[in-house]
Amino acid sequence: MNAPLVIVGAGHAGGRAALTLREEGYTGRLILIGDEPHAPYERPPLSKGVLQGSADLAGCSLCDGARLAALNIEHLASNPVRLLEPQHQRLQLADGQWLPYAGLLLATGGRARRLPPSEGNVLYLRTHDEALALRAALRPGTRLVIVGGGFIGLEVAASARSLGCEMTVLEAGPRLAGRVLPPVIGEALLNMHRSQGVDVRLNVVLESISPDAVWLVSGERLPCDVVVAGIGMQPNLELATQAGLEVGQGIRVDACLRTSAPNIYAAGDVCEFSVNGLYQRQETWRNAEAQGRHAALNLLGRELAFEAVHGFWSDQYDWGLQAVGVMTPRTVSRPLAGGGVLLFYLDADQRLQGACGWAPGNSVARDIKLCERLITTAMPLSEASLADPERSLKHWLRG
Ligand code: FAD
Ligand code: NAP
Repeated sequence: MNAPLVIVGAGHAGGRAALTLREEGYTGRLILIGDEPHAPYERPPLSKGVLQGSADLAGCSLCDGARLAALNIEHLASNPVRLLEPQHQRLQLADGQWLPYAGLLLATGGRARRLPPSEGNVLYLRTHDEALALRAALRPGTRLVIVGGGFIGLEVAASARSLGCEMTVLEAGPRLAGRVLPPVIGEALLNMHRSQGVDVRLNVVLESISPDAVWLVSGERLPCDVVVAGIGMQPNLELATQAGLEVGQGIRVDACLRTSAPNIYAAGDVCEFSVNGLYQRQETWRNAEAQGRHAALNLLGRELAFEAVHGFWSDQYDWGLQAVGVMTPRTVSRPLAGGGVLLFYLDADQRLQGACGWAPGNSVARDIKLCERLITTAMPLSEASLADPERSLKHWLRG
């Protein structure tokens, strides 16, 4: 009997890869191994609807147990892979069993980076079970200190504020989400959170956490009931490292998402790929979706180079943030209705490379979709027209 195709990591990228393999007609044995107890689910609702109480696990599901069974995908839950032996094309699970593989996908994602141990009530948010634990702690009047003014920190702040919690956000850097968002949007987020009653502190250095307070190096004591740390994601690299695969900040892959070991691919948050000679990881829903699908096609022998326009979104209060493509130094700003803003990123030839917008509701989604189409046309665009809110983006596409 032929060895199975095996996917390690039953998260978004792993789940998407398994579904794609079946959609593409692979009928052989297919095993999806996860260390969580759940079938694959999407994480974006965890910091939004799940915390606010408007979404549950079923609402986050990528494919539930019944669908996996119907597709004859063997899902091994709560059973992490502990050992990988590429030279023998086999791996070992926590329960001790060995599995051979014909092809393997590593989609092990990441975990929330931890603060140093303390006596405080510190919670993290990466998994569904962590979201439930956090939700249980969020009651009207709960005093919350959030460490980290990135996406987790800001989305948790917005959700918890809507539940009536009292909130302080501590950001180490000079701006909110400073590594991924442009200053204009960081400033808009700062104003939004402060206007919602969140005490946002920038350039803050944490000293220690006690059971009922957070202490800053300035000597200030911030009384609190719960601390949430959103200080970044740590990729799950241990398996790849132990197996001797080439690893940088993630598992290194070639243009086809192939790792340095035969018949092993990587996808999603853990995957480090090269763009114009520079290695990068993308920690986004869109990347997990695209790479999960792409790796599945290549597991089937397609040899396709991975090329994608990257993007992400965030929802905070009743405003939406969206970004697509890459941010370049040449920026044009367009004011949007309701106080929003849309930023265009051009190259030296005035061609659109990326866009980022922040606006009420979901209104910016349409603009970002049009920007994505404009990126693919690679036509030169006038800065004056881009800056003019009266000028429809469709006008270039019609031309
Ligand atoms: P994961 O989803 O982390 O899945 C990896 C899985 O592999 C995990 O279940 C992990 O436990 C498991 N695993 C690890 N090691 C092993 C092992 N040895 N054996 C077996 N299993 C293992 N992105 C956006 O673009 N927009 C958003 O609004 C957004 N919101 C988010 C909100 C939250 C709270 C979080 C945490 C993330 C959010 N993201 C968002 C990011 C997006 O969810 C991730 O980029 C995406 O989940 C990455 O998918 P993945 O499959 O690579 O990794
Ligand atoms: P993040 O986006 O990397 O942000 C972490 C923030 O915490 C950074 O601004 C960082 O500042 C700051 N920080 C780090 N250490 C700190 C400390 N000791 N004290 C105060 N601030 C500190 O990571 P995250 O918000 O934790 O999110 C984790 C993962 O979930 C990421 O992969 C993220 O993409 C994903 N996620 C995405 C979304 C979305 O796309 N909408 C939503 C939620 C989660 P420096 O940059 O200066 O280090």
